[in-house]
Amino acid sequence: MLNVSPIPAFQDNYIWLITNNNHAVVVDPGEAAPVEKILAERGLTLDAILITHHHWDHTGGVNALLTSWPQAQVYAPAAEAMPAAGAIALNDGDHVSLPALELELKVISVPGHTLGHIAYYAHQHSTPPLLFCGDTLFSGGCGRLFEGTPKQMHDSLQRLAGLPDDTRVYCTHEYTQANLAFCHAVEPNNPELKKYLQNVAKLRQQGVPTLPSTMAREKAVNVFLRAHLAGVRAAAQAHQGAELNEVIEVFAALRRWKDDF
Ligand code: ZN
Ligand code: FE
Repeated sequence: MLNVSPIPAFQDNYIWLITNNNHAVVVDPGEAAPVEKILAERGLTLDAILITHHHWDHTGGVNALLTSWPQAQVYAPAAEAMPAAGAIALNDGDHVSLPALELELKVISVPGHTLGHIAYYAHQHSTPPLLFCGDTLFSGGCGRLFEGTPKQMHDSLQRLAGLPDDTRVYCTHEYTQANLAFCHAVEPNNPELKKYLQNVAKLRQQGVPTLPSTMAREKAVNVFLRAHLAGVRAAAQAHQGAELNEVIEVFAALRRWKDDF
């Protein structure tokens, strides 16, 4: 059975561990030690490492993991510096086949946070679809625009929003609670958001991860997927003190607003 679980790293990163029987894959191992610990505890073999983008908190553990797992195949975005020698460079539409895990992933190009950023999407027969989206889509938020434009990020998020509603959204950071505080400032009367805020507060009090999210929920609460709505636009305009005619302008204003929220 395919299983996905978070390995906490640094302050608020999750390295996602995908397993089937004793075979394992990790997504964005920023550090190696917590991964090695879980692999040893569970008697797992590391088959592959998937990288979404070049930032150190997503790639820092790759070479140490390869020292103990030299047969593990690394996959990374073609448009960015390879995290290790022998890594397979991926472009939009490519497929990653992991037969030992009975897992097939499709590559989706999602520039914005970085220019080469990719996401991995798996549509299984028996389980809901899985999305590993790195620092592109967060629960209640999106990545900062370090390299891309608002238009690139907005287009990337819209592509992800087009995935099925039951898609499980595996983000790389536990930013949910802070993100929802921002969403609430933009949409104080969104009932779905209010409910989710309460649930998330409870989970965080107990130290429980708020992830994965689902695409249906993100479309209901995440203002970065809701820039086309009149209420969101009105809030962005009020904050900006200027008229915003295009959806991209609303999105860009929201992103700037969040940057110093
Ligand atoms: Zn990043
Ligand atoms: Fe990150």
